[in-house]
Amino acid sequence: MPAPTYVVVGASLAGLRAAEELRRLGFDGRLVMVGAESHLPYDRPPLSKAVLAGEAQPEDTALRKQPYDDLAIDWRLGRRAEQLEVADRILTLEDGERIEFTGCVIATGARPRVLPGTPALAGIHVLRTLDDCLAIRADLDRGARVVVVGAGFIGAEVAATCRGRHLDVTVLEMLPTPMVRGLGPVLGEVLARLHRAHGVDLRTGVGVAGFDGLERVERVRLDDESTVDADVVVIGVGVEPATDWLESSGLTLDNGVVCDETLLAAPGIVAAGDVCRWPNPLFDGTSMRLEHWTNAAEQGIAAAQRLLVDDDAAVPFAPVPFVWSDQYDLKIQVAGHVQGDDQVEIVDGSTEDLRFVAAMGRNGRLVGAVGFGRPRVLMQYRRMVSERATFAEALELPGKEA
Ligand SMILES: Cc1cc2nc3c(=O)[nH]c(=O)nc-3n(C[C@H](O)[C@H](O)[C@H](O)COP(=O)(O)OP(=O)(O)OC[C@H]3O[C@@H](n4cnc5c(N)ncnc54)[C@H](O)[C@@H]3O)c2cc1C
Repeated sequence: MPAPTYVVVGASLAGLRAAEELRRLGFDGRLVMVGAESHLPYDRPPLSKAVLAGEAQPEDTALRKQPYDDLAIDWRLGRRAEQLEVADRILTLEDGERIEFTGCVIATGARPRVLPGTPALAGIHVLRTLDDCLAIRADLDRGARVVVVGAGFIGAEVAATCRGRHLDVTVLEMLPTPMVRGLGPVLGEVLARLHRAHGVDLRTGVGVAGFDGLERVERVRLDDESTVDADVVVIGVGVEPATDWLESSGLTLDNGVVCDETLLAAPGIVAAGDVCRWPNPLFDGTSMRLEHWTNAAEQGIAAAQRLLVDDDAAVPFAPVPFVWSDQYDLKIQVAGHVQGDDQVEIVDGSTEDLRFVAAMGRNGRLVGAVGFGRPRVLMQYRRMVSERATFAEALELPGKEA
Protein backbone atom coordinates (compact mmCIF):
# COMPACT_ATOMS: atom_id res chain seq x y z
CA MET A 1 0.00 0.00 0.00
CA PRO A 2 1.62 3.32 -1.06
CA ALA A 3 1.92 6.12 1.51
CA PRO A 4 -1.23 8.29 1.65
CA THR A 5 -1.22 10.93 -1.06
CA TYR A 6 -3.70 13.76 -1.42
CA VAL A 7 -3.80 15.59 -4.68
CA VAL A 8 -5.36 19.00 -5.28
CA VAL A 9 -6.14 19.85 -8.91
CA GLY A 10 -6.32 23.62 -9.49
CA ALA A 11 -3.76 25.84 -7.73
CA SER A 12 -5.95 28.79 -6.92
CA LEU A 13 -8.22 29.89 -4.09
CA ALA A 14 -10.32 26.77 -3.46
CA GLY A 15 -7.34 24.47 -3.98
CA LEU A 16 -5.05 26.42 -1.69
CA ARG A 17 -7.62 26.62 1.10
CA ALA A 18 -8.15 22.86 0.78
CA ALA A 19 -4.40 22.18 0.98
CA GLU A 20 -4.04 24.42 4.04
CA GLU A 21 -6.95 22.68 5.73
CA LEU A 22 -5.58 19.20 5.04
CA ARG A 23 -2.36 20.19 6.81
CA ARG A 24 -4.21 21.99 9.62
CA LEU A 25 -6.16 18.83 10.30
CA GLY A 26 -2.91 16.90 10.68
CA PHE A 27 -2.46 15.19 7.32
CA ASP A 28 1.31 14.75 7.08
CA GLY A 29 1.63 12.55 4.01
CA ARG A 30 2.36 13.58 0.43
CA LEU A 31 0.36 16.59 -0.79
CA VAL A 32 0.52 17.27 -4.52
CA MET A 33 -0.87 20.44 -6.06
CA VAL A 34 -1.41 20.60 -9.80
CA GLY A 35 -2.01 23.92 -11.56
CA ALA A 36 -2.31 24.72 -15.26
CA GLU A 37 -0.95 28.24 -14.67
CA SER A 38 2.73 28.70 -13.90
CA HIS A 39 2.03 31.12 -11.02
CA LEU A 40 1.74 30.31 -7.34
CA PRO A 41 -1.88 30.80 -6.20
CA TYR A 42 -2.98 34.41 -6.57
CA ASP A 43 -6.11 36.39 -5.92
CA ARG A 44 -8.39 37.21 -8.86
CA PRO A 45 -10.60 40.06 -7.54
CA PRO A 46 -7.80 42.68 -7.85
CA LEU A 47 -7.44 41.78 -11.54
CA SER A 48 -10.50 43.82 -12.47
CA LYS A 49 -9.78 46.47 -9.83
CA ALA A 50 -6.43 47.62 -8.40
CA VAL A 51 -4.12 45.68 -10.73
CA LEU A 52 -6.03 46.75 -13.83
CA ALA A 53 -6.03 50.31 -12.50
CA GLY A 54 -2.24 50.16 -12.21
CA GLU A 55 -2.49 50.75 -8.45
CA ALA A 56 -1.30 47.25 -7.48
CA GLN A 57 1.29 44.92 -8.92
CA PRO A 58 1.17 41.19 -9.63
CA GLU A 59 3.18 40.41 -6.49
CA ASP A 60 0.51 42.13 -4.39
CA THR A 61 -2.00 39.47 -5.41
CA ALA A 62 -0.28 36.47 -3.77
CA LEU A 63 -2.94 34.49 -1.92
CA ARG A 64 -0.50 33.41 0.74
CA LYS A 65 1.67 36.12 2.19
CA GLN A 66 3.72 33.77 4.36
CA PRO A 67 6.10 31.12 2.92
CA TYR A 68 4.75 27.78 1.77
CA ASP A 69 7.28 25.70 3.73
CA ASP A 70 4.83 24.48 6.38
CA LEU A 71 2.49 23.08 3.73
CA ALA A 72 5.26 20.93 2.20
CA ILE A 73 3.52 20.90 -1.16
CA ASP A 74 4.81 18.80 -4.01
CA TRP A 75 4.07 21.33 -6.80
CA ARG A 76 3.12 20.59 -10.38
CA LEU A 77 2.68 24.10 -11.77
CA GLY A 78 2.30 24.94 -15.44
CA ARG A 79 0.94 21.45 -16.02
CA ARG A 80 -2.65 20.46 -16.73
CA ALA A 81 -4.38 17.47 -15.30
CA GLU A 82 -5.67 15.47 -18.22
CA GLN A 83 -7.48 12.44 -16.88
CA LEU A 84 -8.98 11.11 -13.67
CA GLU A 85 -9.46 7.38 -13.15
CA VAL A 86 -12.04 7.38 -10.42
CA ALA A 87 -12.17 3.70 -9.40
CA ASP A 88 -8.38 3.22 -9.41
CA ARG A 89 -7.73 6.71 -7.99
CA ILE A 90 -5.12 7.74 -10.53
CA LEU A 91 -4.62 11.27 -11.87
CA THR A 92 -2.75 11.68 -15.15
CA LEU A 93 -1.09 14.95 -16.13
CA GLU A 94 -0.57 16.26 -19.66
CA ASP A 95 3.06 15.11 -19.67
CA GLY A 96 2.02 11.57 -18.83
CA GLU A 97 2.89 11.58 -15.12
CA ARG A 98 0.49 9.34 -13.21
CA ILE A 99 -0.24 10.10 -9.58
CA GLU A 100 -1.93 7.49 -7.39
CA PHE A 101 -3.94 9.15 -4.69
CA THR A 102 -5.85 8.45 -1.52
CA GLY A 103 -7.97 11.55 -1.90
CA CYS A 104 -8.45 14.22 -4.56
CA VAL A 105 -9.82 17.77 -4.46
CA ILE A 106 -11.11 19.01 -7.82
CA ALA A 107 -10.71 22.80 -7.82
CA THR A 108 -10.21 23.68 -11.48
CA GLY A 109 -12.50 26.70 -11.35
CA ALA A 110 -13.97 28.22 -14.47
CA ARG A 111 -12.85 29.79 -17.69
CA PRO A 112 -14.36 32.63 -19.72
CA ARG A 113 -16.98 31.91 -22.34
CA VAL A 114 -16.06 33.09 -25.80
CA LEU A 115 -18.30 34.75 -28.34
CA PRO A 116 -18.53 32.38 -31.29
CA GLY A 117 -16.72 33.72 -34.34
CA THR A 118 -14.47 36.15 -32.43
CA PRO A 119 -11.46 36.78 -34.68
CA ALA A 120 -7.88 36.51 -33.44
CA LEU A 121 -7.24 40.27 -33.47
CA ALA A 122 -4.86 41.98 -31.08
CA GLY A 123 -6.74 44.11 -28.55
CA ILE A 124 -9.59 41.62 -27.96
CA HIS A 125 -9.37 40.14 -24.48
CA VAL A 126 -11.08 38.09 -21.83
CA LEU A 127 -10.24 38.55 -18.16
CA ARG A 128 -9.69 35.56 -15.92
CA THR A 129 -5.98 35.21 -15.26
CA LEU A 130 -3.15 37.45 -14.16
CA ASP A 131 -1.69 37.16 -17.64
CA ASP A 132 -5.03 38.30 -19.15
CA CYS A 133 -5.03 41.28 -16.77
CA LEU A 134 -1.49 42.35 -17.60
CA ALA A 135 -2.20 42.11 -21.32
CA ILE A 136 -5.28 44.34 -20.97
CA ARG A 137 -3.38 46.74 -18.72
CA ALA A 138 -0.59 47.09 -21.26
CA ASP A 139 -3.17 47.92 -23.92
CA LEU A 140 -4.91 50.46 -21.66
CA ASP A 141 -1.57 52.14 -20.96
CA ARG A 142 -1.53 53.23 -24.60
CA GLY A 143 -4.63 55.35 -23.94
CA ALA A 144 -7.50 53.43 -25.39
CA ARG A 145 -11.13 53.59 -26.38
CA VAL A 146 -12.51 50.61 -24.51
CA VAL A 147 -15.51 48.49 -25.41
CA VAL A 148 -16.75 46.05 -22.80
CA VAL A 149 -19.03 43.28 -24.03
CA GLY A 150 -21.36 42.11 -21.25
CA ALA A 151 -22.46 44.05 -18.17
CA GLY A 152 -22.10 41.34 -15.53
CA PHE A 153 -19.87 41.86 -12.49
CA ILE A 154 -16.60 41.49 -14.42
CA GLY A 155 -17.70 43.74 -17.29
CA ALA A 156 -19.07 46.34 -14.88
CA GLU A 157 -15.85 46.37 -12.83
CA VAL A 158 -13.67 46.66 -15.92
CA ALA A 159 -15.83 49.58 -17.09
CA ALA A 160 -15.57 51.29 -13.69
CA THR A 161 -11.80 50.80 -13.51
CA CYS A 162 -11.31 52.11 -17.05
CA ARG A 163 -13.41 55.19 -16.26
CA GLY A 164 -11.17 55.63 -13.22
CA ARG A 165 -8.30 55.79 -15.72
CA HIS A 166 -10.22 58.48 -17.66
CA LEU A 167 -10.66 56.27 -20.70
CA ASP A 168 -13.68 56.33 -23.03
CA VAL A 169 -15.81 53.31 -22.21
CA THR A 170 -18.73 51.76 -24.06
CA VAL A 171 -20.52 48.81 -22.50
CA LEU A 172 -22.64 46.58 -24.72
CA GLU A 173 -25.29 44.46 -23.05
CA MET A 174 -27.70 42.25 -24.92
CA LEU A 175 -30.35 42.23 -22.19
CA PRO A 176 -32.50 45.25 -21.22
CA THR A 177 -30.43 46.13 -18.13
CA PRO A 178 -27.13 45.03 -16.60
CA MET A 179 -27.43 41.85 -14.52
CA VAL A 180 -31.14 41.48 -15.18
CA ARG A 181 -30.97 37.69 -14.84
CA GLY A 182 -29.10 37.85 -11.56
CA LEU A 183 -30.64 40.88 -9.87
CA GLY A 184 -33.82 41.65 -11.81
CA PRO A 185 -34.89 44.77 -13.72
CA VAL A 186 -35.26 47.14 -10.74
CA LEU A 187 -31.70 46.70 -9.48
CA GLY A 188 -30.39 46.31 -13.02
CA GLU A 189 -31.73 49.78 -13.78
CA VAL A 190 -29.93 51.16 -10.71
CA LEU A 191 -26.68 49.68 -11.99
CA ALA A 192 -27.32 51.22 -15.39
CA ARG A 193 -27.81 54.62 -13.76
CA LEU A 194 -24.61 54.21 -11.73
CA HIS A 195 -22.51 53.58 -14.84
CA ARG A 196 -24.13 56.27 -16.95
CA ALA A 197 -23.59 58.76 -14.11
CA HIS A 198 -19.89 57.96 -14.34
CA GLY A 199 -19.77 58.63 -18.06
CA VAL A 200 -20.06 55.10 -19.45
CA ASP A 201 -21.85 54.84 -22.78
CA LEU A 202 -24.04 51.90 -21.78
CA ARG A 203 -26.00 50.40 -24.66
CA THR A 204 -28.53 47.75 -23.69
CA GLY A 205 -30.61 45.44 -25.84
CA VAL A 206 -27.86 45.19 -28.46
CA GLY A 207 -25.83 42.19 -29.52
CA VAL A 208 -22.39 42.04 -31.10
CA ALA A 209 -22.41 41.09 -34.77
CA GLY A 210 -18.63 41.09 -35.30
CA PHE A 211 -15.27 42.79 -34.96
CA ASP A 212 -13.35 44.68 -37.66
CA GLY A 213 -9.63 45.36 -37.91
CA LEU A 214 -6.52 44.26 -39.78
CA GLU A 215 -4.14 43.08 -37.09
CA ARG A 216 -5.63 45.00 -34.18
CA VAL A 217 -9.30 45.45 -33.46
CA GLU A 218 -10.60 48.77 -34.79
CA ARG A 219 -14.34 48.60 -34.30
CA VAL A 220 -17.19 46.47 -33.02
CA ARG A 221 -20.20 45.86 -35.25
CA LEU A 222 -23.55 45.66 -33.50
CA ASP A 223 -26.62 43.77 -34.61
CA ASP A 224 -28.56 47.04 -35.02
CA GLU A 225 -26.02 47.82 -37.79
CA SER A 226 -24.29 50.55 -35.80
CA THR A 227 -20.57 50.37 -34.98
CA VAL A 228 -18.39 51.44 -32.07
CA ASP A 229 -14.73 52.34 -32.57
CA ALA A 230 -12.49 50.39 -30.25
CA ASP A 231 -8.79 50.05 -29.41
CA VAL A 232 -9.42 47.51 -26.70
CA VAL A 233 -12.31 45.09 -26.30
CA VAL A 234 -12.90 43.12 -23.10
CA ILE A 235 -15.41 40.31 -23.46
CA GLY A 236 -17.13 39.46 -20.20
CA VAL A 237 -20.00 37.20 -21.13
CA GLY A 238 -19.70 34.74 -18.29
CA VAL A 239 -17.70 31.64 -17.51
CA GLU A 240 -18.06 27.91 -17.78
CA PRO A 241 -16.71 25.35 -15.30
CA ALA A 242 -13.36 23.79 -16.26
CA THR A 243 -14.53 20.18 -16.49
CA ASP A 244 -13.26 19.25 -19.97
CA TRP A 245 -10.46 17.14 -18.49
CA LEU A 246 -13.00 15.07 -16.56
CA GLU A 247 -15.10 14.00 -19.52
CA SER A 248 -13.90 10.39 -19.54
CA SER A 249 -13.83 10.11 -15.74
CA GLY A 250 -17.35 8.83 -15.24
CA LEU A 251 -18.04 11.58 -12.69
CA THR A 252 -21.40 13.25 -13.19
CA LEU A 253 -20.85 16.54 -15.01
CA ASP A 254 -23.70 18.97 -15.45
CA ASN A 255 -22.51 22.55 -15.71
CA GLY A 256 -19.99 21.66 -13.00
CA VAL A 257 -18.85 18.57 -11.11
CA VAL A 258 -22.00 17.25 -9.46
CA CYS A 259 -21.45 16.48 -5.78
CA ASP A 260 -23.66 15.42 -2.89
CA GLU A 261 -24.51 17.87 -0.14
CA THR A 262 -21.21 17.06 1.61
CA LEU A 263 -19.22 17.94 -1.58
CA LEU A 264 -18.36 14.32 -2.37
CA ALA A 265 -18.27 13.58 -6.12
CA ALA A 266 -17.19 9.92 -5.74
CA PRO A 267 -15.47 7.96 -2.97
CA GLY A 268 -12.24 9.80 -2.15
CA ILE A 269 -13.01 12.66 -4.56
CA VAL A 270 -14.47 16.05 -3.63
CA ALA A 271 -14.93 19.30 -5.53
CA ALA A 272 -14.81 22.93 -4.44
CA GLY A 273 -15.04 26.45 -5.83
CA ASP A 274 -16.34 27.63 -9.19
CA VAL A 275 -16.25 24.10 -10.62
CA CYS A 276 -18.47 22.52 -7.95
CA ARG A 277 -22.22 21.94 -8.18
CA TRP A 278 -23.97 20.72 -5.07
CA PRO A 279 -27.42 20.80 -3.46
CA ASN A 280 -27.41 23.50 -0.79
CA PRO A 281 -29.54 22.30 2.15
CA LEU A 282 -30.10 25.87 3.35
CA PHE A 283 -32.17 26.40 0.21
CA ASP A 284 -33.99 23.06 0.38
CA GLY A 285 -31.42 21.29 -1.74
CA THR A 286 -31.38 23.81 -4.61
CA SER A 287 -28.56 22.78 -6.94
CA MET A 288 -25.97 25.56 -6.97
CA ARG A 289 -22.69 26.40 -8.63
CA LEU A 290 -21.28 29.67 -7.36
CA GLU A 291 -18.63 31.85 -8.96
CA HIS A 292 -17.66 33.84 -5.90
CA TRP A 293 -14.54 34.28 -3.82
CA THR A 294 -16.10 33.57 -0.41
CA ASN A 295 -17.62 30.33 -1.62
CA ALA A 296 -14.36 29.11 -3.15
CA ALA A 297 -12.52 29.79 0.11
CA GLU A 298 -15.16 28.22 2.38
CA GLN A 299 -15.85 25.31 0.09
CA GLY A 300 -12.14 24.50 -0.25
CA ILE A 301 -11.95 24.14 3.52
CA ALA A 302 -15.17 22.11 3.73
CA ALA A 303 -14.08 19.80 0.90
CA ALA A 304 -10.77 19.04 2.64
CA GLN A 305 -12.62 18.28 5.87
CA ARG A 306 -14.92 15.93 3.96
CA LEU A 307 -11.98 13.94 2.63
CA LEU A 308 -10.69 13.26 6.12
CA VAL A 309 -13.91 12.05 7.77
CA ASP A 310 -15.89 8.82 7.49
CA ASP A 311 -19.12 8.95 5.50
CA ASP A 312 -21.28 8.80 8.62
CA ALA A 313 -19.53 11.83 10.15
CA ALA A 314 -19.75 14.00 7.01
CA VAL A 315 -21.66 17.27 7.34
CA PRO A 316 -23.59 19.08 4.61
CA PHE A 317 -22.19 22.32 3.18
CA ALA A 318 -24.96 24.87 3.71
CA PRO A 319 -23.69 28.45 3.36
CA VAL A 320 -25.46 31.70 2.55
CA PRO A 321 -23.87 32.57 -0.82
CA PHE A 322 -22.09 35.92 -0.75
CA VAL A 323 -20.43 38.09 -3.36
CA TRP A 324 -19.11 41.63 -3.40
CA SER A 325 -18.19 43.88 -6.29
CA ASP A 326 -16.32 47.20 -6.16
CA GLN A 327 -17.48 49.70 -8.75
CA TYR A 328 -16.35 53.35 -8.53
CA ASP A 329 -16.52 54.24 -4.82
CA LEU A 330 -19.30 51.74 -4.15
CA LYS A 331 -19.18 48.33 -2.56
CA ILE A 332 -22.02 46.24 -3.92
CA GLN A 333 -22.81 43.09 -1.94
CA VAL A 334 -25.21 40.26 -2.62
CA ALA A 335 -26.01 37.71 0.06
CA GLY A 336 -28.24 34.69 -0.48
CA HIS A 337 -29.60 32.91 -3.51
CA VAL A 338 -30.88 35.87 -5.48
CA GLN A 339 -32.60 35.55 -8.85
CA GLY A 340 -33.93 38.02 -11.38
CA ASP A 341 -37.60 37.24 -10.71
CA ASP A 342 -37.43 37.56 -6.91
CA GLN A 343 -39.68 40.01 -5.07
CA VAL A 344 -37.68 43.17 -4.35
CA GLU A 345 -38.32 45.53 -1.46
CA ILE A 346 -36.03 48.44 -0.56
CA VAL A 347 -35.65 48.13 3.21
CA ASP A 348 -32.95 50.70 3.91
CA GLY A 349 -31.71 53.87 2.21
CA SER A 350 -32.86 54.75 -1.30
CA THR A 351 -32.02 53.72 -4.83
CA GLU A 352 -32.00 57.43 -5.78
CA ASP A 353 -28.95 57.96 -3.56
CA LEU A 354 -27.37 54.70 -4.75
CA ARG A 355 -27.03 53.74 -1.07
CA PHE A 356 -29.59 51.11 -0.07
CA VAL A 357 -30.38 47.54 0.86
CA ALA A 358 -32.98 45.53 -1.04
CA ALA A 359 -34.54 42.45 0.54
CA MET A 360 -35.21 39.69 -1.95
CA GLY A 361 -38.12 37.29 -1.41
CA ARG A 362 -39.42 34.13 -3.01
CA ASN A 363 -42.45 32.07 -1.96
CA GLY A 364 -42.74 34.04 1.27
CA ARG A 365 -39.13 33.43 2.28
CA LEU A 366 -36.25 35.89 2.53
CA VAL A 367 -33.83 34.37 0.01
CA GLY A 368 -31.28 37.16 -0.06
CA ALA A 369 -30.38 40.82 0.07
CA VAL A 370 -28.54 43.24 -2.18
CA GLY A 371 -26.65 46.17 -0.69
CA PHE A 372 -25.16 49.22 -2.34
CA GLY A 373 -22.74 50.92 0.06
CA ARG A 374 -24.50 49.54 3.19
CA PRO A 375 -22.26 46.73 4.50
CA ARG A 376 -23.52 46.70 8.09
CA VAL A 377 -27.21 46.45 7.23
CA LEU A 378 -26.52 43.94 4.51
CA MET A 379 -24.90 41.65 7.08
CA GLN A 380 -28.02 41.78 9.24
CA TYR A 381 -30.04 40.45 6.33
CA ARG A 382 -27.38 37.88 5.52
CA ARG A 383 -27.83 36.52 9.03
CA MET A 384 -31.62 36.45 8.60
CA VAL A 385 -31.22 34.42 5.41
CA SER A 386 -29.14 31.88 7.34
CA GLU A 387 -31.93 31.75 9.95
CA ARG A 388 -34.50 31.05 7.22
CA ALA A 389 -36.50 34.19 8.01
CA THR A 390 -39.75 34.86 6.20
CA PHE A 391 -39.95 37.79 3.79
CA ALA A 392 -42.46 39.45 6.14
CA GLU A 393 -39.99 39.22 9.03
CA ALA A 394 -37.28 40.78 6.87
CA LEU A 395 -39.49 43.76 6.11
CA GLU A 396 -39.94 44.37 9.85
CA LEU A 397 -36.23 44.26 10.77
CA PRO A 398 -35.53 47.07 13.24
CA GLY A 399 -32.25 48.91 13.83
CA LYS A 400 -31.26 49.87 10.31
CA GLU A 401 -28.25 52.02 9.56
CA ALA A 402 -28.98 55.73 9.58
C1 LIG B 1 -11.23 39.44 -12.65
C2 LIG B 1 -12.01 38.77 -11.56
C3 LIG B 1 -12.52 39.52 -10.52
C4 LIG B 1 -13.27 38.89 -9.51
N1 LIG B 1 -13.79 39.66 -8.51
C5 LIG B 1 -14.54 39.07 -7.55
C6 LIG B 1 -15.12 39.85 -6.53
O1 LIG B 1 -14.96 41.06 -6.47
N2 LIG B 1 -15.87 39.20 -5.59
C7 LIG B 1 -16.09 37.86 -5.61
O2 LIG B 1 -16.79 37.32 -4.73
N3 LIG B 1 -15.53 37.09 -6.59
C8 LIG B 1 -14.78 37.66 -7.54
N4 LIG B 1 -14.23 36.90 -8.54
C9 LIG B 1 -14.47 35.44 -8.55
C10 LIG B 1 -13.45 34.66 -7.74
O3 LIG B 1 -12.15 35.12 -8.01
C11 LIG B 1 -13.59 33.18 -8.08
O4 LIG B 1 -14.84 32.77 -7.58
C12 LIG B 1 -12.48 32.35 -7.49
O5 LIG B 1 -11.24 32.66 -8.07
C13 LIG B 1 -12.76 30.86 -7.71
O6 LIG B 1 -11.69 30.13 -7.21
P1 LIG B 1 -11.41 28.63 -7.69
O7 LIG B 1 -10.20 28.21 -6.93
O8 LIG B 1 -12.65 27.84 -7.57
O9 LIG B 1 -11.13 28.71 -9.26
P2 LIG B 1 -10.09 29.55 -10.10
O10 LIG B 1 -9.68 30.77 -9.34
O11 LIG B 1 -10.71 29.71 -11.44
O12 LIG B 1 -8.81 28.61 -10.22
C14 LIG B 1 -8.83 27.41 -10.88
C15 LIG B 1 -7.41 27.06 -11.28
O13 LIG B 1 -7.40 25.76 -11.84
C16 LIG B 1 -6.59 25.76 -12.99
N5 LIG B 1 -7.00 24.66 -13.87
C17 LIG B 1 -8.06 24.60 -14.71
N6 LIG B 1 -8.08 23.42 -15.36
C18 LIG B 1 -7.01 22.73 -14.93
C19 LIG B 1 -6.48 21.44 -15.22
N7 LIG B 1 -7.06 20.61 -16.09
N8 LIG B 1 -5.35 21.05 -14.58
C20 LIG B 1 -4.73 21.87 -13.70
N9 LIG B 1 -5.18 23.10 -13.38
C21 LIG B 1 -6.32 23.52 -13.97
C22 LIG B 1 -6.82 27.12 -13.59
O14 LIG B 1 -5.76 27.45 -14.48
C23 LIG B 1 -6.87 28.00 -12.35
O15 LIG B 1 -5.61 28.47 -12.00
C24 LIG B 1 -13.48 37.49 -9.56
C25 LIG B 1 -12.96 36.73 -10.62
C26 LIG B 1 -12.23 37.36 -11.61
C27 LIG B 1 -11.69 36.55 -12.75
